[in-house]
Amino acid sequence: MKKIIITIDGYSSCGKSTLARQLAGRLNYLYIDSGAMYRAITLYFIQQQVDWNKTDAVNNALNNIQLEFIYNQISGQSDMFLNGENVEQMIREMLVAEKVSEVAAIREVREFAVAQQQKMGAGKGIVMDGRDIGTVVFPDAELKIFMTADPAIRVERRFKELYQKNRNITLHEVKENLELRDYIDANREVSPLRKAEDAIVLDNSQLTTEEQLQLVMQWVEDAIMAHSS
Ligand code: C5P
Repeated sequence: MKKIIITIDGYSSCGKSTLARQLAGRLNYLYIDSGAMYRAITLYFIQQQVDWNKTDAVNNALNNIQLEFIYNQISGQSDMFLNGENVEQMIREMLVAEKVSEVAAIREVREFAVAQQQKMGAGKGIVMDGRDIGTVVFPDAELKIFMTADPAIRVERRFKELYQKNRNITLHEVKENLELRDYIDANREVSPLRKAEDAIVLDNSQLTTEEQLQLVMQWVEDAIMAHSS
């Protein structure tokens, strides 16, 4: 069966990674969480106290960053490695979430990440989620999905996820962070979050993950058919 590229973009906490993971599992495709790359870069900048308002400092830092996704046998998912260290847990913390959109808005950072993302997709058979995947990273992807969901539902979902790891987190904190990230992501100068013209909108506010998967698998079959001739 012909392999395609599937892009999933959208606001924070719409369930992009859940869908991307399910699709990759069903199709036996590679799943790449592009947000993890921006989070790992942000973690490095914080740890090394890089002044990211200075282009030279950013370029120097990027020269010292090596990012890798390594499969974790126990979780059955890929973990993000930064310079050989597993940072999967650390990049999900609030400290990183608070700064990541600022760092992801820097042109040099985006060029660095996008070049690596494009290499990963060279062989097709990939599902990648993020903010600019259908518009910038893979503008020729065979299937582009733009996800959205009711903001209150998104906040609740993310809160539940984070609360399991951190009992001190508040709903208010999560709401503020999602709003801030969405605002910066949609309004930045370089590759702002927007729907690609040929993307299909998926509003999953009222869908279970199973219903969503069924619907999208149909789109996948259609896209494969359309690009097989
Ligand atoms: O997907 P996730 O919420 O983990 O992404 C974290 C942040 O990384 C986003 O809020 C956004 O600022 C940035 N990002 C991006 N472009 C992508 C993926 C993520 O700017 N393709």
